[in-house]
Amino acid sequence: MSTFLELGLKDSITKALIDLGYETPTVIQEKAIPQIISSTTDLKAFAQTGTGKTAAFSLPILEQIDENSKNTQAIILSPTRELAIQIGNNIKDFAKYLPKVKVATVYGGSNIQDQIRDLKRGAQIVVGTPGRTVDLINRRALKLGNVQWLVLDEADEMLNMGFKDELDKVLEATPETKQTLLFSATFPREVEAIARNYMTTPVEITSGQKNQGSDDVAHEYYMVSERTRYPALKRIVDVNTDIYAIVFCRTRRETQEVANNLIRDGYVADALHGDLSQAQRDSVMGKFRKKTVQILVATDVAARGLDVTNLTHVINHKLPDQIENYTHRSGRTGRAGSKGISVILVSNKEKGRIRAIERIIKKKFIEGKVPSGKEICQNQLMHLIDKVQNTEVNESQIAEFLPSIYEKLEGLNREELIQKFVSLEFNTFLSYYENANDLNNLSSRDSARRTTDENMTRFFINIGRKDSLNPGKLIGLINEQNIGDKVDIGSIDILDTFSFFEIDKNYQEKTLEAFLNNEPDFNGRSVNIEITKKERSGGGGGRRRGKKSFGNRDGGGFGRRRSKETSSRRSEGFSDKKRRSSDRPDRGTQDKRTGGFGRRRRER
Ligand code: AMP
Repeated sequence: MSTFLELGLKDSITKALIDLGYETPTVIQEKAIPQIISSTTDLKAFAQTGTGKTAAFSLPILEQIDENSKNTQAIILSPTRELAIQIGNNIKDFAKYLPKVKVATVYGGSNIQDQIRDLKRGAQIVVGTPGRTVDLINRRALKLGNVQWLVLDEADEMLNMGFKDELDKVLEATPETKQTLLFSATFPREVEAIARNYMTTPVEITSGQKNQGSDDVAHEYYMVSERTRYPALKRIVDVNTDIYAIVFCRTRRETQEVANNLIRDGYVADALHGDLSQAQRDSVMGKFRKKTVQILVATDVAARGLDVTNLTHVINHKLPDQIENYTHRSGRTGRAGSKGISVILVSNKEKGRIRAIERIIKKKFIEGKVPSGKEICQNQLMHLIDKVQNTEVNESQIAEFLPSIYEKLEGLNREELIQKFVSLEFNTFLSYYENANDLNNLSSRDSARRTTDENMTRFFINIGRKDSLNPGKLIGLINEQNIGDKVDIGSIDILDTFSFFEIDKNYQEKTLEAFLNNEPDFNGRSVNIEITKKERSGGGGGRRRGKKSFGNRDGGGFGRRRSKETSSRRSEGFSDKKRRSSDRPDRGTQDKRTGGFGRRRRER
């Protein structure tokens, strides 16, 4: 293995790398740095996120840049504002001992005048999102006539996001003599077309096999049905006591729903998707980086610029539409030498896609079993005991309280004390998983029913048998409220003057809202519904304590009894057939003109 010095970098650069803690070059750096320094031939690099590709293209550019000229000599395009900022900051770190080198980062959703001022002062290296870069070229604030290097970073993602026209414009504004460096994790047809049309006999390098996943990532799949998908996700989170993960979803709506459900169930989770304003996105990402948020539920595009090196898991709640994107997702973990696990939750229908992914990543998936309640309790309990063992006692601080505590607990022996303390911390969890079913047994009727319980909200409705209500009529009444497509209705209990019914928890708020807004009546009686108290407090147990403890299960109606008149039905005939923008894969909300995320698009 060579050193950075041996790759041809000068002292002023290697000194900065030492400060950053970069000891040896990564594979892509070892291949790209000498190539770019020694040759002006175009370069096509297959590189995942997390392989060190930013340094792979920036260091040889810094090595060769003319510090004494103020002309823009390198333009680096990146798909998102976050990634652009990250690249800009990395280059500034690398150029710490090259004081005359100036880097300008330009992106939409931020004051363009400030960026024009930065450019006027002279920046040898410009990092930008495609839209804003074109805007600045059109305003003649950015002049690319002297560019020697054009870097297209995450080219596949830029094309995915619809930046083809912008790329064409930037390419047109640069001289023919430049060296084009194209970095991409995948090479679909569109990226190959860019390489063909704009590059001359490029040299190809890879950071391993093309598209291959990192060796530090283990790939696991768990079989689920639509009903067990969310409970399985929770169990995977619960069994991994120190989880720090991104849960990937396909659409903004799915993202928000999964995040809402996790938050409702007491997890320290948040959502990141294109419907959020830039300020909201920055705040969520900040919290996730600081680990105040433990589970980030995100769309592919929104999570792009997030550089977090120590994720324990990437969880694919649903697989991406384009299978190549799996490598982007799984590449978020196992970064910078740490190990990670990439999990996919797949239904029978999606199972065939596992083979397709295996062919791309050149690795086998391991089938995981959704953990049982017992396994989870055992793991959590041992985690708690470990924490107790490792807790440092600050005797001087607690000394004054101890005598009265000892006095109060005088009658308890060691065993009783341990039992009480474990129960105090653990009752909620134990009762939640007390009768937990086997989620791996997808065909079992029992499994489906019990799972339904975990996912259902029980409503009270003020009409009953005396109003001639029966289960069929109640389902009809629910259907008429247009709550959503194919909403699951669980058990129905018809009593004399009132009744109960269960609805998929995801639709709890919509159900309440629909009945409130529609003000339906049934046989002349105005109908109203309420979430039953039992649902809100079922399962007993205290609220969670520290932010890193497992979810609070006291909001989910656990340990519920099954009703006599149980019927699990799927309502039909809902008319909400419109496909909303948030149901489509999240392409971000870039303002194509500015290249930024400034606008907030609201769901109708
Ligand atoms: P990148 O693929 O450029 O996003 O880099 C992924 C992460 O690896 C970043 O946090 C970099 O700071 C880090 N990194 C890149 N190159 C090296 C290196 N040679 N040694 C240690 N860390 C590195």
